Amino acid sequence: MLETIRSSKRHTCSTGVYLDHGATTRLDERLLEKILHHFIKSWGNPSSRDHALGWDAAEAVEEARGHVAELINASPNEIIFTSSATESINCALRGLVATLSAKQQALTGATEHEAVLETCRLIGTTTALRIDILPVDRLGRVNPDAVECKTGETAFVSLMLANNEIGTIHPVRRFAEAAHAAEAVFFSDVTQAAGKIPIDVHELGLDLAAFSAHKLYGPKGVGALFIRSGEPEIKLESLIVGGGHEGGLRAGTLNVPGIVGFGEACRIAKLEMAEDSARIGKLRDKLENALLAELSDIWINGHRENRLSNTSNIGFRGVDARTLIRDMHDIAVSTKSACSSGDPSPSHVLKALGLTDDEAYSCIRFSLGRFTTPEEIDYTINKVIASVHKLRRSMSVAT
Ligand code: PLP
Repeated sequence: MLETIRSSKRHTCSTGVYLDHGATTRLDERLLEKILHHFIKSWGNPSSRDHALGWDAAEAVEEARGHVAELINASPNEIIFTSSATESINCALRGLVATLSAKQQALTGATEHEAVLETCRLIGTTTALRIDILPVDRLGRVNPDAVECKTGETAFVSLMLANNEIGTIHPVRRFAEAAHAAEAVFFSDVTQAAGKIPIDVHELGLDLAAFSAHKLYGPKGVGALFIRSGEPEIKLESLIVGGGHEGGLRAGTLNVPGIVGFGEACRIAKLEMAEDSARIGKLRDKLENALLAELSDIWINGHRENRLSNTSNIGFRGVDARTLIRDMHDIAVSTKSACSSGDPSPSHVLKALGLTDDEAYSCIRFSLGRFTTPEEIDYTINKVIASVHKLRRSMSVAT
């Protein structure tokens, strides 16, 4: 079976079955031709205004900016390109704080990605702002009534649209309303949501948002920062100064092949999102239902309905998740976000839900994607069941 999976045209993962799309996605091969064109044929610098190679590159960047903007219903002039969602988050929050004075507080959530939490920690230690971290309930939801902002005091609220470990989707519009009522800026990390669920930044009330190409089948090393235009004006100070690229907000020659790939990935995501998400959701539900039917003492973390259709975070009571992952060596899954997987402490997201350390160490994130096949899910179901039974048997022999 595994050989079939390996040789399948749709699947070329050297580890066997890849169910770690929350960490990154394989480049969609449909992007390759355009990307290569801008490595080899039209390889100019988009800032070169004196010749055709420069003009071609600039045109390609602007076309891509249009596609990226369209994915979130923004205007092209509201998008700046960066190297990653992490960079966009830094540019947004640190860039914003650098322009503010006389504010005292900012709010974020306990289950935010490290890119947001670390940026907030840095702001908390280097500025006068106090960072308040809002708790979540057992399903990973921040209570919108807890988003208490004070006019003149609250600088910003930063809450993600969809969580990367459990998939829970937040009612960000309500968070934005709470922020705006106190004249605070609302930022949302939409990295996991972009390309998976429809996003309308204006309807959601976002002032700033971050996401990146590699989570939606585009290349690594390219991200986007949405900055709402209009009143009240969102002012950011640039973290990277130099040649004044990207409206003076992010200096440095643009990664044209990456940006072109990002644009194309967004264009495809917009067209195929609904169909992909329905198909992937069925596979995810099949995986969960089969495991719940066959294995005792397992549970699903996060909101069962209101979550990303590709994400399933499952706890296997009494089983060490890393041992289980090693036992299922040809299935690529993860215990927590890739950015913090080197840290041996339990997932901060699962801890925030109220899980004990032992429970958190028993959980695995399965994240499906565009190229996941029914055969791979069948293979995974059998493999998980066999491994969990084996590990539980060996534990009962040992005790
Ligand atoms: N925010 C979320 C929710 C993520 O899942 C990730 C990546 O895992 C990031 C931010 C960081 O993205 P990037 O790798 O583009 O810096």
